Amino acid sequence: MTMNTFCALPPESSHRQFVQRRRLLSAAAGAAALTMLPAASAFCAVNTQASHRVLIVGGGVGGATAARYLKIWQPGLDVTVLERNPNFIRHYGSSEHLTGAVSMADLSVSYDGLRAHGVKVVQAVAQALDPVKKVVAASVNGSVQTFAYDSLIVSPGVELLYDKLEGYSAELARTRIPSGWIAGEQTALLRRQLLAMPDGGTVVLVAPPNPYRCPPGPYERSALITEWLGHYKPRSRVVILDPKNDFVTDETMLLGWNHLYGFAPPEPYAQKLDPYMVEPKNTCRLQWIREKEGGKPLSIDAGTLTVKAAGGSIKADVLNIVPPMRAAAIAHTFGLTDASGFCPIERRTFESTKIPDVYVLGDASIADAMPKSGYSANTQAKTCARALLYKLSGEEVPEPAWSNTCYALAGDDWGLFVADTFRLVNGKIARTNTRARYQDLDASREQRRVAARYLRAWMRTITADTFG
Ligand SMILES: Cc1cc2nc3c(=O)[nH]c(=O)nc-3n(C[C@H](O)[C@H](O)[C@H](O)COP(=O)(O)OP(=O)(O)OC[C@H]3O[C@@H](n4cnc5c(N)ncnc54)[C@H](O)[C@@H]3O)c2cc1C
Repeated sequence: MTMNTFCALPPESSHRQFVQRRRLLSAAAGAAALTMLPAASAFCAVNTQASHRVLIVGGGVGGATAARYLKIWQPGLDVTVLERNPNFIRHYGSSEHLTGAVSMADLSVSYDGLRAHGVKVVQAVAQALDPVKKVVAASVNGSVQTFAYDSLIVSPGVELLYDKLEGYSAELARTRIPSGWIAGEQTALLRRQLLAMPDGGTVVLVAPPNPYRCPPGPYERSALITEWLGHYKPRSRVVILDPKNDFVTDETMLLGWNHLYGFAPPEPYAQKLDPYMVEPKNTCRLQWIREKEGGKPLSIDAGTLTVKAAGGSIKADVLNIVPPMRAAAIAHTFGLTDASGFCPIERRTFESTKIPDVYVLGDASIADAMPKSGYSANTQAKTCARALLYKLSGEEVPEPAWSNTCYALAGDDWGLFVADTFRLVNGKIARTNTRARYQDLDASREQRRVAARYLRAWMRTITADTFG
């Protein structure tokens, strides 16, 4: 592929076609990489009451996986999902919309697959919980309806705390300074802003404090924007303002930035990465300003798109803010959260420690060493569904085990990952793998390409596994 291919600004679809063509060539290898097969046989012997009503609030990764696996394992169960949106908009993979590699339609997942499994999916906004009567009130087409349950599963994701950054607000995020950390309209707005930005512009990405969903995500997004700008607006730059000094997958991500964009990793990374690096370029158009270099954001001036950070101010042409986050609003309304802003659970089952017969999954839950990721939400949903079925049959809930792999891109064909397994240790979820979690620093260029293919294969398989 020569640089001439990229000499003109792409119409919305041509970059996508180019990327899709390239991916088609490698799809066969990637598709075989990760297949999550339902362990349907595991519950053949579990004898539950067929009329047991499981109500699920939130039809995202956690909620949809729980619904689908409950019906696979126990078809007689009455499973209803209350979901605010008509389709699920995938957060995972949504940064690839910013480069035009995928469309918003590509990010949209239908609930038809769940319905085909016999799950009732109701477009509704859950509003209140009566844990004594065991009913949830929800708004359906503007009128309030109640939904009775025997077991309630809540997987509502996160709420973005826009107001925690002085000068920022939900209204600004909706209209002018998108976040897009809950994928949707703001993702599309950010894409339009990047397209409209003149060459030579500055994109500032404000990274969030811990804990947040998708730990490598802000750094992957910055990398993909840098790569895209390099092709189409090569005098532009990307600056990450960060309230932290490190992040999961930092070494392999920084190494990718070094090879692809000439990035000079700061200490302590430089010393460790030195044997694997190429010569950094002083023309590098990606900058990471950590907390220790004054990167902590303090406030924004929305009028001038200027971010004031601890170390000084920077004016952006496009400003993307990933604000602090906590469990989604409905988890607070239901009374499921604690002072941390997330939901305490009994780890073996993911049952709330606050309200009996209510289970909390995914980003909203306190899952200790497990990251807030789609992979985590999916595996938590399976262990929770299994625990629920065992409880219903009066049998002891077996010891759970979980896994997570976060894939990320440093560039379109430069993948990396962190892969972990988890078990209960002293009542908490602890990481148990002791061997290398990350891609090898001396991985070959082909291995980086294969990791990017694995990422795309994972996106296809997790979507199929979750939504049917
Ligand atoms: C840019 C980005 C990239 C990512 N990349 C990856 C990745 O590569 N790998 C990975 O594993 N994870 C990734 N993630 C994280 C992953 O998407 C989330 O961790 C995952 O979706 C969490 O699942 P969940 O069920 O907790 O929440 P969600 O999937 O967000 O689902 C919550 C659902 O609840 C609904 N809801 C909320 N409140 C209500 C209510 N009151 N009534 C009705 N419905 C309601 C919402 O509409 C939503 O559909 C990424 C995230 C982002 C932002």
